[in-house]
Amino acid sequence: MDAPHQWQAGANPLAPIWPLVPPLKPDEVFSSWLVRCALAMGCDPLTLTNSLWPGVRFWCRDPDRNLNPHQVKELSVLAGIPADLFAASVLSRIQSLLVGRREDPNHAAQWVLCLGARNRRRAGGLQYCPACFAEEGAYYKVQSRLAWHCSCPRHRLTLLSSCQSCNAPLCPHLLMPPEIDLRCCHRCHFELASALARPALLPTLDFQETADGLFSGRQAVYGSYLLELEEWFYVCRWLLGILRWAARFHSACTRPFFTSFGVDYMGLTVPALGLPFQYLPPADRARLLGDTWAMLQAGPDKLSAAAQRLPVPPSMMRLPAGDPPACVQSIFADVHGRHNTEAVHHRAHADHTTRNVLMQWQRLLRKLQR
Ligand SMILES: [Zn+2]
Ligand SMILES: [Zn+2]
Repeated sequence: MDAPHQWQAGANPLAPIWPLVPPLKPDEVFSSWLVRCALAMGCDPLTLTNSLWPGVRFWCRDPDRNLNPHQVKELSVLAGIPADLFAASVLSRIQSLLVGRREDPNHAAQWVLCLGARNRRRAGGLQYCPACFAEEGAYYKVQSRLAWHCSCPRHRLTLLSSCQSCNAPLCPHLLMPPEIDLRCCHRCHFELASALARPALLPTLDFQETADGLFSGRQAVYGSYLLELEEWFYVCRWLLGILRWAARFHSACTRPFFTSFGVDYMGLTVPALGLPFQYLPPADRARLLGDTWAMLQAGPDKLSAAAQRLPVPPSMMRLPAGDPPACVQSIFADVHGRHNTEAVHHRAHADHTTRNVLMQWQRLLRKLQR
């Protein structure tokens, strides 16, 4: 396995104006550093941001997607940390590479975990490895916000997105003095490093390593096709959509299609929340990414052949929003063309109503944890 991709190098403060500035740790996401900075100076994060930017409701939006160049420059002078490292510790740059253009911070981002914020409270959007907290100290990494990260490659554990004691989502920005760092849950003060995590699913680690490698300049490939970075992620979104469709509409017709890729068809389940990928907890995303990896590895030729040979409905192969690469367009066009000449039947499960009620219940529970 190659060395893990580094999102930013980290830095010690040099001639800061503020009295007690913690170093920016390697790969640390901006909001994590800002909260540690506030607690190190003995104030809560809200007080710090209110004094920095009066009138800006900084913690009510996504702090790692809404930092502007003026704020970066201002913080760089106060903290003595280079502005380019702060810029590398937010998600805007990654997101613009993922979508091939500048992102709109007011829209839910693809592949970036959604905070589900209401005022300063959140429903999720952050994850951590308890073994990393124990060994490296408590801080959140850029990877803590990326939806294709579900596991820690170092400790081979599935990440956690809530407090194991009280089930509260991780909200380090709600910590207040006398806390001096991020080691505890903001609600029940449980020591986050002492949580137990499940072993990682190996295919998800392969997926993560491949996806991260694209940001280090590794060529994106799908079978024999060379793709741009955003095209590779498009293919993954498409495959995720196919798998989620199959989980919703189990049928004898589509089963051979998935088993031909080594996907455990009966193990395909609808995530309890039923929300888009970037809202799901790490364990649900890990299961989906493991199956996506199996289908990705099979390549477009095998996918095209299986779609031609087996009666898959065009709705299952539906394209997500965005610009599909040519190889995906061609498979989709083949399935669509064939559908016009032969009838394809699939039978949906009869338990839709029960499942929808359970999903709404899970979403309500998620909101109540804010
Ligand atoms: Zn770890
Ligand atoms: Zn707790």
